[in-house]
Amino acid sequence: MTAMDAARQALGEVFGYDDFRPGQEQVIAAILSGRDVMAVMPTGAGKSLCYQIPALVLPGVTLVVSPLISLMRDQVSALLQNGVRAAYLNSSLTPRQFMLALQNARNGVYKIIYVAPERLLTELFLDFACHAQIAQVVVDEAHCVSQWGQDFRPGYLQIEPFIKRLPVRPRLSAFTATATESVRRDIVRLLDLKAPYEISTGFDRPNLYFEVRRPKDRDAELLRFLAEHKGQSGIVYCGTRKGVEEVARMLRQEGIDAVGYHAGMPDEERRSAQEDFVADSVPVIVATNAFGMGIDKSNVSFVVHYNMPKDLESYYQEAGRAGRDGEEAVCCLLYQPADVRLNQFLIEHGQEESELDAQTQQVVAERAKERLKQMTFYATGSGCLRTRILGYFGERPAKVYCGNCSGCLSAAQERDVTREAGQIVSGVMAMQGRYGKALTARVLVGARDERIRARGLDKLSAFGCLRAEGETNVRAMIDELIVDEVLEVTEGEYPLLRPGPRAREALLGDEPIRMTLPTADTPIETGRRVTQKRQVDKALLVRLTALRRRIAEEQHVPPFIIFTNATLRDMADKRPRTRAAMLRVDGVGAGKLERYGDAFLREIEAYVGE
Ligand code: ADP
Ligand code: ZN
Repeated sequence: MTAMDAARQALGEVFGYDDFRPGQEQVIAAILSGRDVMAVMPTGAGKSLCYQIPALVLPGVTLVVSPLISLMRDQVSALLQNGVRAAYLNSSLTPRQFMLALQNARNGVYKIIYVAPERLLTELFLDFACHAQIAQVVVDEAHCVSQWGQDFRPGYLQIEPFIKRLPVRPRLSAFTATATESVRRDIVRLLDLKAPYEISTGFDRPNLYFEVRRPKDRDAELLRFLAEHKGQSGIVYCGTRKGVEEVARMLRQEGIDAVGYHAGMPDEERRSAQEDFVADSVPVIVATNAFGMGIDKSNVSFVVHYNMPKDLESYYQEAGRAGRDGEEAVCCLLYQPADVRLNQFLIEHGQEESELDAQTQQVVAERAKERLKQMTFYATGSGCLRTRILGYFGERPAKVYCGNCSGCLSAAQERDVTREAGQIVSGVMAMQGRYGKALTARVLVGARDERIRARGLDKLSAFGCLRAEGETNVRAMIDELIVDEVLEVTEGEYPLLRPGPRAREALLGDEPIRMTLPTADTPIETGRRVTQKRQVDKALLVRLTALRRRIAEEQHVPPFIIFTNATLRDMADKRPRTRAAMLRVDGVGAGKLERYGDAFLREIEAYVGE
């Protein structure tokens, strides 16, 4: 078996995934072949797997240098859950715990050790490292080595001398989500990477839906947004501490379970706010930008910015905390012109106390103003939001319209849809009021869908009659027809679509019906949002989520460490009844099957049997 075969096997057996994500395979192959690596991958792309799989395949131990205690802890508990022997060495350990861990490390107990950069050159650690077989050294959040970035960490400068002290130079890889050219060059230079394999997988996060709203009343808009995302977990960023407190209070008054978080709060309160949010016991956290760095919660379904941040770097970083599990997530910016003025004020007055000389201060302020201008264009302009972000980061997107942002969805025009409305109504009649909006739309566009075939709906003459419109448009039309009382939906958990009081008029087509829809000639990839979201059995999903909560509480770990949302969805979708079938669920490997397989199988069994 080649090393790459072993890597593929580990992907399935240990981590429970079928395929590599973009870039992962190349990075793993490069590491396995003995090369140094410099990888730029956006948040959520799956950097960890890129070095964890080689760690399992290569003989010896892998050292991972990581900047944050919380990141290390989460990574290690996730690895242990998958049955991988791992540990961390940082200042959160007592001297006794530290010695014990080091003893184990000496005895070759661990495959992966996470270590804080400041530890590397300590006598104890050096002594261990010089006598161990080190397969590779990995530098996570590698941009911390560069003084160009905001996250400069002097300890990272000890990595290169540490490597020099080792009797045999291990392969060295660096990972970051920060892309600017100067930072990349710094990483290669300061870590002294040798002819590294360089890869940048691109900054797009296709599962994020970007949205800008420009409301008069932000509170009302926020409440509307949260109502649309009921039951989901998310972050609301505010520009100031005062804002955090006011918004959190407002939400609680409106009956929404929300906690506040900012650097001015007492440590204890802040810690418990964070823990409650990560543990899924409070769904919404209202925070300043102090919240997020180092918080490894993958199932964040939305990030709302109550205020516009100062630049697109900050915005994309904060918004990017949504959807790290690869599930569909929403990033919504609430914009008001006052945001621009506040940021201008901060730029003009923020530098006063800094140690920079007057001239440098002015240059810095000019650059900050330029960045603010770009941010403002994003908030106020038209066109595709994704294109604008990616363009800002120097990437040329493949499409002008991504079809998955509010900019694209509003690239629209009013037109006559009298004929289409008639076709929709006759389709709904043919389906005899037994199906919901989503399935009806899929029938009308002639989607290939198991449920449609199974119910014989592909035999209807309405099947595929609106294929040219695309699913998003057809759904939009159905929504408008409901508002116009041409169609109506029943009450209840699974609302069904049926003809409304004005269905007959629409069918006869006496009166023209006009709607605003994306124009046919804009190259919009329709239906993307809709098709991405698999229809799952909500009731089963709720039960699986509750089981995950119980287990997480018992074990004192965040729920997503047990299984991610994506895994639970896939499980609800596949409904495994045997251990072998359970292994086919995305994100279930041998380790997790061993630990939780039976509990989840029993839950599914009980559900199906009811
Ligand atoms: P990053 O460090 O790049 O922000 P992570 O390594 O935390 O991202 O991975 C993000 C999520 O993607 C995790 O939940 C991880 O389990 C999942 N993931 C990683 N690789 C794959 C893959 N090949 N298939 C499916 N999910 C994956
Ligand atoms: Zn777009």
